[in-house]
Order: sequence, then structure tokens, then C-alpha cells
Amino acid sequence: MILITGGAGYIGSHTVLNFIEAGYEVVIIDNLETGHIETVNTLKQYRKVHFIKGDLKNIEDIEKVFNKYKIDAVIHFAAYSLVGESVEHPAKYYRNNTFGTLNLLDTMIKYNVKKIVFSSTCATYGEPKYTPIDENHPQKPINPYGKSKLMVEKIMEDYDSAYGLKSIKLRYFNVAGADNKVRVGEWHEPETHLIPNILKSTFEKEKIFKIFGNDYDTPDGTCIRDYVNVEDLAQAHKLALEYLNKTNTSNVFNIGTEKGDSVKNIFDTCKEILGKEIPVEIAERRAGDTSILYADSKKAQTILNWKPIRTIKDSIHSAYEWEKILYKRLNNK
Ligand code: UDP
Repeated sequence: MILITGGAGYIGSHTVLNFIEAGYEVVIIDNLETGHIETVNTLKQYRKVHFIKGDLKNIEDIEKVFNKYKIDAVIHFAAYSLVGESVEHPAKYYRNNTFGTLNLLDTMIKYNVKKIVFSSTCATYGEPKYTPIDENHPQKPINPYGKSKLMVEKIMEDYDSAYGLKSIKLRYFNVAGADNKVRVGEWHEPETHLIPNILKSTFEKEKIFKIFGNDYDTPDGTCIRDYVNVEDLAQAHKLALEYLNKTNTSNVFNIGTEKGDSVKNIFDTCKEILGKEIPVEIAERRAGDTSILYADSKKAQTILNWKPIRTIKDSIHSAYEWEKILYKRLNNK
């Protein structure tokens, strides 16, 4: 049995589907604060998916899962992930992302479970000193979100030395798209991310998509990011666990496409795919945004044999299919 924390969330739910389709049995723990019960209900239609509502901040909740199921390995997503919010409410991030993970790791040691794949982030690198960013790039996070995740990476190194707990840290770049059968997708309230915000502007009458800054030092003046497809990312977790089972060694991998797309580029591609105009305006820069971020993910490609297969167009297509469903669901249509 694989424990997937945060399995009711965006990346977690796609990873649950990836694992069960590969034949694994999965139990999800999620406090449903940012994850959704509708997502759990969709996943629970599969016999191999179990669910326990629980919070990693309460060690008793975690114990409940380990008492009930024989866990072989953990895939750990449950976390807050908004940079701006982390600056305003740092304690929330350290309590949930760092302290919650400590509870999880301690319970794993208690129950002799010694394998974990951890959802880390390119935010642990901070301001890029060079691009593309490889795993050896210095880690100097500039916000509590990145720091809360870097602390976990460090704790995991110490737990390996002290208790032999083996971890794979996956540092993701931007994530996009939805399940190709549109069973699950990206669902944040409020939505802050680029692609869903562009798409929502086509449904919601009053909504005008805002480009946050067009005076960056990039060819078209808008920020450049590396958008990895969520199904490709889910696959990286499965490959990481297989690597862990085979080698029993801790390691760290960047997961990105190695291609940068500007905000304007993504906007134009959305327009092209939807075949219609989308209301847009240029707004102020958003605090904390760096101009260019994209990954060197050769290590994952070589060692995990992971490959980003889906293009940005694939991601926009599936995201759009999902947005249509979500819009109907949220507006009871
Ligand atoms: N962005 C934008 N308008 C939006 C949302 C995002 O221009 O409504 C820009 C944002 O400033 C950044 C890029 O899109 O340069 C990606 O932002 P997102 O929030 O999707 O991911 P992040 O890079 O913050 O993890």
C-alpha cells in the first residue's frame, strides 16, 4: 500500500491515478482544506483507492493511517504552496509544511517505513544565478514557502544518516494541464496560476486576464517559466519510487521540460487553441516574481529515465477541457 498525502489536491490526485493505473493500491490522507471531497469521490470510484481525512499537524491522524494499513512507501504532497501567502503568514507554512512533515517522518520511523518521495520545489533555489537551473544550483530561497520546503530536504538528509530513511526529493518547476480523461484537474480557490486564469477569463464575464509586468529583461518583456505537464509530473513520482525500491538510495531531481515559455507566449497559445479573443490587460509586476526560471532536468532523464512527453499545447488543451467541467460544477449548470 502506498500512502499519498495531499492526494485530494492538484498534483496529488493525478499521481493517485497514475499509481492505481500502474497496479498499486493507494491510501490518501488529506485534510480537505485546499483539496476537494469531489476529487476524493472521483478517485474512490476505483477499488484500489482508500481515503482518510486527516491533518499531518496531528500525529494521531497519521498514526490512524499507519495502524489501519500496511504502508510500504509514502508520496508526500500535502502542503501550502502560495509564495505571497507564505510571506504574509510564515507560521502557517512552517507549521504545516515543515512541522507536519516532521510528524509524518517520525511516524514512518515508528512503523519502520523507510521510503518517501517528496514534493519539493524550484522555489528552494531562490534568485537564479544561472539558467537552466540544475540540481547543483545554490539553494537560497527568498520566501517562507521555499524555506519551509528546503528545511524538509535538510531534515530528510539527517533522517537518512540517523535512521536510514531514504528519500527522493523532486524539485518541480511550473505545473500545467489536467488528466486526459478529465477526471481531475487544477482547482484552487482563489486561483492564482497563469493558465487557469487565462482560461477562466473566457468563461467569467467580468474577468479580464492580467499580465503581471511586460518590462522584464526577456525578449517580449514578460516572465519566462518552465511548464511541466501534470501527468508527466505524476509519472516522475512513480519512476522515483521505482528507483528508490531498486537502489535504496536518497537522491534529488529537477522536474521540468527544459523549455521556457513567456507569459505572452502562453497567452497567445491559449488564444490560438481556443480560437477566440481573450480579454487582457497589462498590470503591475507581481511581488516576488523572477524574470526567467527553467530547469535542467537531464539528471531525471538519465537516472530515472523520465521524459516530458506532453507539450504545452497538450497541457492547455486538457486544462481547457477541465475548466469547462469545473465551471459547470461551480455554477451548478
Ligand atoms: N501570471 C500572470 N497573470 C496571472 C497569473 C500569473 O501574468 O493571472 C504570471 C506570473 O507573474 C508569472 C507566471 O505567470 O510570471 C507564472 O505564474 P504562476 O502563478 O502560474 O506560477 P509561479 O511561477 O508563481 O509558480
